[in-house]
Amino acid sequence: MTLPGSPFVAYRGPDLFIEDARAADLVARYGSPLYVYSKQAMLAALAPYHQALQGRPHLVCYAVKANSNLAVLQTFAQAGCGFDIVSGGELARVLAAGGQANKIVFSGVGKTRAEMRLAMEAGVRCFNVESTAELDVLSEVAQACGQRARVSLRVNPDVDAGTHPYISTGLKGNKFGIAHELAVSTYKRAASLPGLDVVGIDCHIGSQITDVLPYLDALDRVLDLVEAIEREGVTIHHLDLGGGLGITYTDETPPRANELIGLLLARIDARGHGHREVLFEPGRSLVGNAGVLLTEVQFLKPGEQKNFCVVDAAMNDLMRPALYEAYMGIVNTTLRPGSETVWDVVGPVCESGDWLGRDRQLNVQAGDILAVLSAGAYGMTMASNYNTRGRAAELMIDGSTVHLIRERESISSLFALEKLIG
Ligand code: PLP
Repeated sequence: MTLPGSPFVAYRGPDLFIEDARAADLVARYGSPLYVYSKQAMLAALAPYHQALQGRPHLVCYAVKANSNLAVLQTFAQAGCGFDIVSGGELARVLAAGGQANKIVFSGVGKTRAEMRLAMEAGVRCFNVESTAELDVLSEVAQACGQRARVSLRVNPDVDAGTHPYISTGLKGNKFGIAHELAVSTYKRAASLPGLDVVGIDCHIGSQITDVLPYLDALDRVLDLVEAIEREGVTIHHLDLGGGLGITYTDETPPRANELIGLLLARIDARGHGHREVLFEPGRSLVGNAGVLLTEVQFLKPGEQKNFCVVDAAMNDLMRPALYEAYMGIVNTTLRPGSETVWDVVGPVCESGDWLGRDRQLNVQAGDILAVLSAGAYGMTMASNYNTRGRAAELMIDGSTVHLIRERESISSLFALEKLIG
């Protein structure tokens, strides 16, 4: 059986392997549910970014929110990446994993003064600023630190990325970025503030984008702005085109990263902007297909209208289906001979929204280990402790080496910060 996604997650005979590790063996040793990532799949996903950008000034800033495990960050830091962060917590993680502060861009619509100060003190490369109010505060904070903050304004190009409304960010109605028509005046203000140095421009139009056209439209709108801003005497050094490239969960056919970047660079060059440094902020496309969530089948509950396959992973482990009705592939890690039945794969959490897959053809029995595919992005980072469920353990596989990169949470740790009264 061939699976969508990464070649590093594949069947050998009836058994699913992540690189050279058999999925069922990993659960036998480390328990369930279990996130497992392939290091080689991550590096293979990064390679086309670097390949397409070779020979020109560039920085690939991995978007930490997609998967922020220290070992994942370490892998990308060692591969030469910078990082796109959205909180003081993500800043601390990147530094703890060996990332360089001068390769960090700090995004996000609601940075606090304390986070700005921490980032200034660490020496981040650039703040991606999303409002006039934020510019004013950042200038004040920078002055108080005796420094100037390097800024890039995140502009909202008002382009429809054609993706789920919750992960579309470049439309007028979204909370993100500075409206296209206000961008030039906001740049003039940024350039006039005493604590700021304008260094770039930035846009991010959404996530799980499977078409190049929204990117090209957004780029054109951004380049129009760069030309207008520079006519006002404000110099733009870098173009940050954000992240958002989609992956294959089922039958999507997103462009390859090198194909997309090739087209974007050709447009940048054709419009006379080839001298500028180019930044990208990919998250999902670097880690999504590299991970699986392994989960054990607890009970089969056939019914009149629906058959339920109850597993021990739930919406608190993997929120994407509950949050966006996202489709994630689900397979048995040991294929059984015989016929399949249609199941809703559901977790034990007390919500009807607690499902991982609906109407799935599976040949399955209690005790089997299922794999939810392409779970490397926005899986563990969105996990919670709802229903007082400890978060899963995480493994990183590198060939036949298995690294435990996060221990399973103990139950006592879940309420260790709580206090009884009286
Ligand atoms: N950059 C910014 C500003 C984002 O908000 C996001 C995700 O929402 C990303 C990059 C990464 O997006 P993706 O994981 O779709 O590549």
